[in-house]
Amino acid sequence: MSKLIIVSNRLPLNITIDNDNLSVSPSSGGLATGMSSVHNQGGSLWIGWSGIEDEKLDLNLKEKIKTELENENCASVSLNKNEVDDFYYGLSNKALWPLFHYFTEFSSFDNTQWESYKKVNQKFADIVIANLSDGDRVWVHDYQLMLLPAMIRKMNPNVTIGFFLHIPFPSFEIFRIFPWREELLNGVLGSDLIGFHTYDYERHFMSSVKRLLRLNVNFNQIEQNDRCITVDTFPMGIDYDKFWNAALVHDELKVNQITDLQKQLNLHIDSSPSNKLILSIDRLDYTKGIVNRIKAFEVFLETYPQYKEKVRLVMLAVPSRSDVPQYKKLKRQTDEIVGRVNGKFSTVNWTPIWYFYRSMSFDNLIDLYTSSDIAMITPVRDGMNLVAKEYVSTRTSKKGVLILSEMAGASQEMNEAILVNPSDLNALADSIKKAVEMPDEEQIKRNNTLQKRLKRYNVHKWANDFMSSLIKTENQIDSVKSTIIGAKENKKIISSFKNANNRLLFFDYDGTLVDFNTNPELAIPGKEILKNLEIISKMPNTHLVINSGRDEAFLDKHFKNHNISLIAEHGYKYKLRNETQWSKNGVIKNEWMNHILPLLEGFIDRTPGSFIEKKEASIAWHFRKSPPELAEKRVVELNTLLSSLISDGLQILNGNKVIEVKNSRINKGFAAVKIVEEKHDFIFAIGDDTTDEYLFEELPETAFTIKVGSKNTVAKYNISNIKKVHEMIQNFI
Ligand code: UDP
Repeated sequence: MSKLIIVSNRLPLNITIDNDNLSVSPSSGGLATGMSSVHNQGGSLWIGWSGIEDEKLDLNLKEKIKTELENENCASVSLNKNEVDDFYYGLSNKALWPLFHYFTEFSSFDNTQWESYKKVNQKFADIVIANLSDGDRVWVHDYQLMLLPAMIRKMNPNVTIGFFLHIPFPSFEIFRIFPWREELLNGVLGSDLIGFHTYDYERHFMSSVKRLLRLNVNFNQIEQNDRCITVDTFPMGIDYDKFWNAALVHDELKVNQITDLQKQLNLHIDSSPSNKLILSIDRLDYTKGIVNRIKAFEVFLETYPQYKEKVRLVMLAVPSRSDVPQYKKLKRQTDEIVGRVNGKFSTVNWTPIWYFYRSMSFDNLIDLYTSSDIAMITPVRDGMNLVAKEYVSTRTSKKGVLILSEMAGASQEMNEAILVNPSDLNALADSIKKAVEMPDEEQIKRNNTLQKRLKRYNVHKWANDFMSSLIKTENQIDSVKSTIIGAKENKKIISSFKNANNRLLFFDYDGTLVDFNTNPELAIPGKEILKNLEIISKMPNTHLVINSGRDEAFLDKHFKNHNISLIAEHGYKYKLRNETQWSKNGVIKNEWMNHILPLLEGFIDRTPGSFIEKKEASIAWHFRKSPPELAEKRVVELNTLLSSLISDGLQILNGNKVIEVKNSRINKGFAAVKIVEEKHDFIFAIGDDTTDEYLFEELPETAFTIKVGSKNTVAKYNISNIKKVHEMIQNFI
């Protein structure tokens, strides 16, 4: 039976060692709870780091951990101290984390750390491969493992891989700063499905893929060689029922059952029931906007002094990455500002901020959630933010107000919260006032809507939606596979070639024999392919034709072999083998060019990087070098304009990063059929573009017609890429 392999930097377990005794407990993070619904269904394996550096483990402990992990269907990747420093604290948390959260000034890029990131990703890949069986699926999580999908695919091309990024994907202008940006993108693109929390992150990712890798993107699909990668949005939810039920249980606790923290909170609540508690919970991270939040609370108390002694901020800052200098600095800053604000406003009866620097148990979290009238969650940047969702799901009374930053992914689904710009101190202060004064009915109305949504889109739905989409990509691959040339088809074509008495072969040029280049002049055939084409052309009873959109000068320059026939400009001109002169396929009128040319010139001016190629019978506007998003817009504009202008006799060809206008009487098929004769008992045509479809249509039913790439075609077969075309040519020999 096939299984799911879940891969994340950390395993969903906390392992502690005390005098050679191990204790293993489940961890409570968002990812761990989110994936537990998938993991606990059975049939899955979770691969990750145990959290303990290799140096701290002797053989005996390693064995013990291995056995414990096996019982939990987990396997660990061992990391030593240097790897943890360079891969985790280094590249992941000093380069990727700040950059992806728009803290460019905190990002540092270090070659040693990058080498370690690659090495550790490869370590993860090796463990995945060692545990992988046919038909298994792999789901990779987060920014620490962005190279992993391509590494796994390289070692096992047939596996289905999903990747989910739990942090924001930044805009292209930020992402382009990363020194190894192409490698990182190619790493993720090893997946079949790539998931983000919000559509904005998806959009930014697509934009970087288009601009940096220049890949074709159609809606939410990316074409890379013969592969098609789906990108989609899956906003992560929480285990709603767990929080709701815990809050219900909490409401019913007897006096002797309540925690010490709750006792303290009750003292505050009972002493002045109309006073308000504002809750703030985050890891102590510079992305969380903690300092600004305290400053805003200060502005609130100054601007609205009537609320002094009436409102208190309860702040839980959970220690995080405390070895990284920026985090140390943030800790100092937070301590200072809490001290300053408390010093400034405290009275004998009232301390404005209660500040906890520690992590709390689940029960204590529920104490805080259920006791607070307001939650103020205002990160400057946050992939999703689960705390905001957890607070709302504990509102069993339906009362309570959420103040939420617009910069948290969660804000996209939580419109009923008070949404606020976390950098605008006055707006933050006003949002506190609004929350404090919000009438009960309005709170209930807002929470009702929020809760309905959170209950429906809970974390189990998130995981299941992702898995269903991942499985769907397999069906997609299958439908393409059915036409793609495999070993059987390859054998059939080669043996028909070898057994034939009279062979005719058509080869398209760009995208079939030679890969695209931003400068078309540089897309030239290599020695190997020229040699092989020459060998085939010299075989007895074999006619080889290059059928191209290029002009005669280009084809003459690169195909000097007189055994090869050349067709130029999509069929307008031809020079059959052994001929020295080019001939035209009839006489055509070209006055239309005088009208179309100025129009295209206007497009060059407005589209940097684009250029015009003027041939005898056609004009082409190339945009391979232009900014992809701008070019996309221009393509729509130009197509609309051209279709309203051109007459019946003209045709618009939308090619690969080129739009060509030509006489519709001329096409590759029209030119080629003149060469086809009855004596040919093996006809073969191969090409990648729309223009080749005309040729495929014209050829007899018995012909072997092949489309390069996975697009729909009238050809009988698809072949995945140029490399495979070269292999097939080699097999003809
Ligand atoms: N949390 C916790 N212990 C604490 C404080 C918070 O387990 O003392 C949990 C909280 O319930 C939430 C998670 O930590 O599920 C924080 O997730 P979030 O998306 O809000 O922020 P992240 O830390 O992932 O950036």
